[in-house]
Amino acid sequence: MKVLVPVKRVVDYNVKVRVKADGSGVETANVKMSMNPFDEIAVEEAVRLREKGVAGEIVAVSCGPNAAQEQLRTALAMGADRGILVEHDGVLEPLAVAKLLKTIVAKEGPALVILGKQAIDDDMSATGQMLAALLGWGQGTFASKIEKEGESLRVTREVDGGLETVSLKLPAIVTTDLRLNEPRYASLPNIMKARKKPIETLKPADLGVDPTPRLSVLKVEEPAKRQAGKKVGSVQELVEKLRNEAKVI
Ligand code: AMP
Repeated sequence: MKVLVPVKRVVDYNVKVRVKADGSGVETANVKMSMNPFDEIAVEEAVRLREKGVAGEIVAVSCGPNAAQEQLRTALAMGADRGILVEHDGVLEPLAVAKLLKTIVAKEGPALVILGKQAIDDDMSATGQMLAALLGWGQGTFASKIEKEGESLRVTREVDGGLETVSLKLPAIVTTDLRLNEPRYASLPNIMKARKKPIETLKPADLGVDPTPRLSVLKVEEPAKRQAGKKVGSVQELVEKLRNEAKVI
């Protein structure tokens, strides 16, 4: 069973993001970029499925700038067999990515696509669901456990009220939640080996997809700064402030 793992290049989760002065987006120049953390979980799960003898070849795919090769190399160092870069410098919305991935699925014929549940830069949580809809495949989103059962996949999902278990007919789409696994660190020998693994580069036009955005971002702002707290001298003063200043009681 071939597994496709889409990985996105995003601002590293440790970076404190800064909004551009003109409010058009967040600053990415001279900022550390990494693989989206949920996609690391997706690569790890694909590798674990292969270690259990369930998965065969693992193909990592990234849509984005040429520099997204770095994230593909990380996926290769973690255990993916080869990479595909769909090179595009502009904004890529989830629908455009889902359309690109649909054409890659048609080319590669995977039985399973494992995506992150959301990209930490745009928080869309939409690409996996859109891909499932475009392909007409079943989807197990927010997965915290994946097991193969005959020709199906048993996926435990993290939902508001607890856990839901679904059975998916393959081929299928899964999106990863935080508790699915703890991704491994790539070892030095594996980082060296990854340098020799192949990465194919394509353009959206080669795949017949127009990636032009359908949304325009009107404004990006930082969250309002929290005001400093005040110390009160007594419970009575606290109650008085809650009633007359904060007006919460
Ligand atoms: P989103 O819908 O943007 O929150 O992203 C959900 C998931 O879709 C990510 O965790 C990735 O697995 C995948 N994805 C989104 N954008 C890209 C991209 N540009 N290249 C590869 N995979 C992507």
